[in-house]
Amino acid sequence: MKAAVYVGDKTIRMEERPLPAPGPGEAVVEIALCGICGTDLHIYFEGMLPPPFVPGHENVGTVYALGEGVEGFAVGDRVAAGPPGSCGRCYYCLHGRPSLCVDGFEQTNGLRRDGGMAEYMLVKDARQMLYRLPDNVSFEDAVLTDTMATALRGLAQSAFRVGDNVVVSGAGPIGLSIIQFLKLGGARHVTALEVVPEKRRLAAAMGADVVLDPDDMAEDLAAWLVELYGGVGPDLVVECAGKARSLELCLRLPRAGGQVLNLGAGGEPVTVVPAMLALREISLVSSLAYTADEAKLCLDYLASGRFCTEGLLSDVIPLEELVERGFERLVADRSLVKVAVAP
Ligand SMILES: [Zn+2]
Ligand SMILES: [Zn+2]
Repeated sequence: MKAAVYVGDKTIRMEERPLPAPGPGEAVVEIALCGICGTDLHIYFEGMLPPPFVPGHENVGTVYALGEGVEGFAVGDRVAAGPPGSCGRCYYCLHGRPSLCVDGFEQTNGLRRDGGMAEYMLVKDARQMLYRLPDNVSFEDAVLTDTMATALRGLAQSAFRVGDNVVVSGAGPIGLSIIQFLKLGGARHVTALEVVPEKRRLAAAMGADVVLDPDDMAEDLAAWLVELYGGVGPDLVVECAGKARSLELCLRLPRAGGQVLNLGAGGEPVTVVPAMLALREISLVSSLAYTADEAKLCLDYLASGRFCTEGLLSDVIPLEELVERGFERLVADRSLVKVAVAP
């Protein structure tokens, strides 16, 4: 089978590899689509994880082979293979936080184990890591489950309540998902901040009530939001851009007692004045990945047509063009939302 192997030093090598064979509890998935995530860009450009491995954790495809003892799946089933591995036994798994599992990361396709930027992928724990796709959900929509579920879990872990006024900074795949979940979840008003015009258009289409270019507003933005939101400011601010200056801005925006949700998870250091947070009792909450239940909930939202995917999958490219039309283009052309690879 063909596989795109990250070998370090901004290099992907196309290799011909033997088909993986599933052991007990494992499955082999024939990959239909694999989404390129911001994490993959950090791996490729910044060497975030040690090589060599096959990247790709946003995977959909069909079950090709099943190991002994895998129940509930059959060869030919259309599935999403979610990233969060979880042992089911550690402190975090037993306390409802499987995305923090102490050895889940080691099992996760595309981060430690070989992922979906290949024709086939071995899934270590089929029972926990595979989700069957509803018949009416296409691979093109299902490949968005990973970003959708990351957004959904973020919101579920925040202080968001029905009737809240919310600001979302960054309208990439996660930000656009957050906007939709906020509207589904009963937000009173949503302001989206985005510097790229095409993404501003999408943010409005996904239901943001006001969409602004933060660079146009500069220092006036915080005061403008105070005025817009009852003289106090937004209840919740969600950082989805993954940029230091976005998080720095977000921390200045909530009303006193409000919250900032860190979903962008950028790698740059951020300047924070703790006193400014303390004086207004601003809290910061972070969220990582998602649980199996949250992934299934997202598939239900897709199946019932309540989540709009239009404009989210910008392009599908062949595996051989992963670097030029994937990684490099995603950095150069910021109007792209999600690009997926079809091995
Ligand atoms: Zn991802
Ligand atoms: Zn665990």
